[in-house]
Amino acid sequence: MYLKKIEMQGFKSFANKIEMNFDQGITGIVGPNGSGKSNISDGIRWVLGEQSIKSLRGSKTEDIIFSGTATRKAQGMAEVSLTLDNSLKILPIEYDEVTITRRVYRSGESEYYINKSLCRLKDIRELLMDTGIGKDGYSIIGQGKIDEILSNKSEDRRLVFEEAAGIVKYKTRKEDSEKKLQSTDDNLSRIADIISELE
Ligand code: ATP
Repeated sequence: MYLKKIEMQGFKSFANKIEMNFDQGITGIVGPNGSGKSNISDGIRWVLGEQSIKSLRGSKTEDIIFSGTATRKAQGMAEVSLTLDNSLKILPIEYDEVTITRRVYRSGESEYYINKSLCRLKDIRELLMDTGIGKDGYSIIGQGKIDEILSNKSEDRRLVFEEAAGIVKYKTRKEDSEKKLQSTDDNLSRIADIISELE
């Protein structure tokens, strides 16, 4: 699996629609300071489900939408799409190519798509879980990530190994089931109270 294409429109400094195609192997992105290199990696993290605007170097959602220049007006929407090669079927979906899209409007409303079909953020998270490319995966190595891997805290290191071992999906399902069991237990004890009041 590898990143084949990134498309952006209205995201941070990218007012016009841009498309970058990647081959397998190493690609370097070079450019003058402030030309938008880091905005590309911010866009990748955002489409993979990053919810923290602070970690995308902004303070509010609107900061990731093109804010205009002296000669161009601001955009009303930001959209980023990533196309991944899935010929090895690492992503649990039947298609050889998977395009994940995220869109946000100035109103704050968000939309997510997998291969142009509207979906939930949860669907994207589940699709990417245990592949290493989710928002908490290890495919984007920033400074913080290196600290996490080298961290003395075994819990931090463990998260990275759990993602690589492919067990995050099962842990998440277990937590969901435990929450459902807890709420069923609560309902049962409420019913028991009502029954004892009626008796
Ligand atoms: P460096 O080499 O200095 O790290 P860089 O190439 O990584 O720079 P970025 O940090 O990606 O550059 O881009 C910064 C530029 O993006 C700044 O000029 C900033 O004004 C612009 N920018 C960020 N958010 C927006 C936005 N919402 N609208 C318009 N421009 C934006």
